[in-house]
Amino acid sequence: MHCPFCRNADSRVVDSRTTDDGTSIRRRRQCPACGRRFTTTETASLSVVKRSGVLEPFRREKVIEGVRKAVRGRPVTDADLAGVAQSVEETIRATGASQIDANEIGLAVLPPLRELDEVAYLRFASVYNNFDSLDDFEATIRALREERRAAEEPGE
Ligand SMILES: [Zn+2]
Repeated sequence: MHCPFCRNADSRVVDSRTTDDGTSIRRRRQCPACGRRFTTTETASLSVVKRSGVLEPFRREKVIEGVRKAVRGRPVTDADLAGVAQSVEETIRATGASQIDANEIGLAVLPPLRELDEVAYLRFASVYNNFDSLDDFEATIRALREERRAAEEPGE
C-alpha cells in the first residue's frame, strides 16, 4: 500500500475495523518514511465453496438467481429479492468467515425469505431441505402456523 503523500511503498497498519455493514475493512495506516497517516478501505473477500470443491467469489446475483424460482408468481419485487440477498450477505459476513459452503448460503436464505413470503419460503425450503413426503410439508407449515400464532398473541 503506497503512501499517498510521499509514495513510499511501505506502510504500517495502526488500526483496523469492519464497517457497520460488515462488507469491508477500514484500516488506518502510517507511513514509516514521512510519518503521515491515511485510511484505506478494503472489501473483505468472501468465497463460496461449491460442492465440487471449487471456490468462487460470493455474488449477491447468485443468491437472487437461486431464490427466483421459488418466488415465481408471488407478489415479490426485484427490490425484495435484493433485500434477501443483502440480508444473506450480512449474515454470512457477520460470522467473520472468508470461505463458506454453498450449503450455508441456502440456510441463510431461509429466515429473510420466510419474512418476505411464506409460500416462496415453503417452496425454497422443500428443495433445499429435500422434502420427500407430504409430512415434511405438513411439519414445516405447522411450524410456520405456530410461529405466527405466537407472534400474534399479546405479550405479557
Ligand atoms: Zn509517506
